[in-house]
Amino acid sequence: MKVIPVGIWGGYPKANEATSSFLIEHEGFHCLVDCGSGVLASLQNFLPLEKIDAVVISHYHADHIADLGSLQYSRLIQYYLNNPSPVLPIYGHDQDDDNFEKLSYKGRTIGIEIYENNTTQIGPFTVTFCRTDHPVYCLAMKFTVGDRSVVLTADTEWRDELVDFSKGADLLISEANLYEEHIGVAPGHMGGSEAGKLAQLAGVKRLLLTHLPLHGNIKEILDAAVSNFDGDAEIAEVGKLYTA
Ligand code: ZN
Repeated sequence: MKVIPVGIWGGYPKANEATSSFLIEHEGFHCLVDCGSGVLASLQNFLPLEKIDAVVISHYHADHIADLGSLQYSRLIQYYLNNPSPVLPIYGHDQDDDNFEKLSYKGRTIGIEIYENNTTQIGPFTVTFCRTDHPVYCLAMKFTVGDRSVVLTADTEWRDELVDFSKGADLLISEANLYEEHIGVAPGHMGGSEAGKLAQLAGVKRLLLTHLPLHGNIKEILDAAVSNFDGDAEIAEVGKLYTA
């Protein structure tokens, strides 16, 4: 599997950047994970929009869905220009009826339900989902091809279940939205030390940090992660190709 970070920020993006989103590719099939603010602008540096084969949405906070409407417009406009792409499947949970219904749009995109503790085949990927601990219903996801796996925590506080869920992953893409002094104070997110602890307990090979705050020095978050994890850890770098 190939993974390219599209954006790494939580809440809202830096100038000319995007909120947390990742492109996962295998055998020419391109799956976009989350589609928040700035994602379409960033993504086109790496892939024409019509080449997206599937989208998976972890939850319906704006920094994970803000650009979905524009992605749907791109499909509709190309259809009107007699340049249609296949109907785009957008996978998301149905615990929020209004937002789930919006995944389907004018026959150009279709919403498909995903469920915690369940497995869905998306192109070449076997994808499993795990409930996270966040103010709204949110799903972490594990992409597996053969004996390789990539886990994305999505947005979450520390949650023991994520250790088993992430066991042995080749790549763990963990949120690390908090500086150490904010752990337990700001609900729904983890700090770098917790991302590192998760990586260590799950025995993953490599840790990428994402969903980062725009304030402060994010190197401190990486340092906190490294202090708990013996493997490779880095801040996810937009546009860099990671393999798993
Ligand atoms: Zn969120």
